Amino acid sequence: MGFFLLTQILYSFPMTLSLPDIEISEELIRKFDKLGPRYTSYPTADRFHNGFTAQSYRGYLGQREHQTNSPPLSIYIHLPFCESLCYFCACNKIVTQDHTRVAEYLRYLDREMALVSADLRGNRTVVQLHLGGGTPTFFNTDELHQLMQMVRQHFALASDAELGVEIDPRTVGTDTLTMLAKLGFNRISFGVQDFDPAVQQAVNRIQPLEMVERSVQESRKIGFTSTNADLIYGLPKQTQESFARTLDSLIRVAPDRIALYNYAHLPGRFKAQRLIVERDLPSAETRLQIFLMSLRRLLDAGYVYIGLDHFAKPDDELNKARLNNTLHRNFQGYTTRSECDLIGFGVSAISKVGNSYSQTVRTVNAYYQHLDANQLPVDKGFELSADDVLRREIIMALMCSAPVEFDAIKRNHGIDFTHYFATELTRLQPYQDAGLIHIGPDSIQVTPKGRLFVRASAMVFDKYLEQPTASRYSKLI
Ligand code: SF4
Repeated sequence: MGFFLLTQILYSFPMTLSLPDIEISEELIRKFDKLGPRYTSYPTADRFHNGFTAQSYRGYLGQREHQTNSPPLSIYIHLPFCESLCYFCACNKIVTQDHTRVAEYLRYLDREMALVSADLRGNRTVVQLHLGGGTPTFFNTDELHQLMQMVRQHFALASDAELGVEIDPRTVGTDTLTMLAKLGFNRISFGVQDFDPAVQQAVNRIQPLEMVERSVQESRKIGFTSTNADLIYGLPKQTQESFARTLDSLIRVAPDRIALYNYAHLPGRFKAQRLIVERDLPSAETRLQIFLMSLRRLLDAGYVYIGLDHFAKPDDELNKARLNNTLHRNFQGYTTRSECDLIGFGVSAISKVGNSYSQTVRTVNAYYQHLDANQLPVDKGFELSADDVLRREIIMALMCSAPVEFDAIKRNHGIDFTHYFATELTRLQPYQDAGLIHIGPDSIQVTPKGRLFVRASAMVFDKYLEQPTASRYSKLI
């Protein structure tokens, strides 16, 4: 397979650009698919440092008081417990069968919310909330109910708030789904990864297709307005044929959104991955063929390519936002809610308040110790300079395939784009030559063909890439 047409990407792209059918060659992928950050933040989390303290974070929470229109809030709560270990896992989780640990964690979450709440000034309306993990449904229905009561006690949930939860289909029944809907959850995300029994066995995550199918159908009946499913390619025992079957099955289940992640095998960094038998991993060539086949199959099935590894049905809000240039990125990926300050609770959760990022300590012991001492459990963070804020705006626009307009940059940041970013514009030239980006006299914009390679274009504006990092970045493929 040398080339394939991306006509559907073109047709679903705002028709401000008129280009013929697009061919993406494997050569292009090899040249421009670089190791790079996924830019859920800028600067990226590996640049956070512990010169940013709990005191710094408190300052930013308090500063909201002086903002004429302090933005509404988006809340993320990290619930780290899982009953069993998936061997591909790179999340911050605790594998345990001991469900009594939840009560203690909940008590500390309550303390953290009370401390943040005491410092938080300005608008405390929450327009978006997401439970991630770990496995949020490790918590039983009473515990999830208690958690949401705590949220409602400390914050004001907007009546149209977007409430999302990550679901492990192995741990939910109708009662849990019904209770989540009663608590106001309207978005649900299922970890699928792969339906092939041999792959499931190789990664220690057995969940038959029927189990996922039932959960998705029930969640629709119960009233969830949006369903997402995560797939991972590059897992052991996967072949192009086996993954094609997984995709066909998932397309029949028809979630509103599909995330197709690339498995990054980093056993030196993630202990769980040492349990994966390396000789079972597909070769780089097979991964590339799996990716190309998946992209074609999802587009043929009517999904629209949103960006990076996300697909959605044409009438999904994410696609509408993409077409209106109101798509944004945060730590949960692509989102339609841009204007929020993000407050993270629980171990390793990240917050973005004003021009700052802060991250909570990673272990529950450290988390409990800080809160026992009445301190916010901040491990590290980052205060953005004016240059960081400017670069963040550009990088996020590129990641969302939105235009970067020089006049708007001048108005918002008081700089002349072509002068300030002369070096970057020169470095973008090969991307322009390859048709991945369009540099005009007043703006730059990722082209339909360039949407597969957005992070390579965004990296041109990342000034921290010149400095060493301990992190290893991944590739799209
Ligand atoms: S992939 Fe999810 S369910 Fe599996 S161990 Fe990691 S956090 Fe837990």
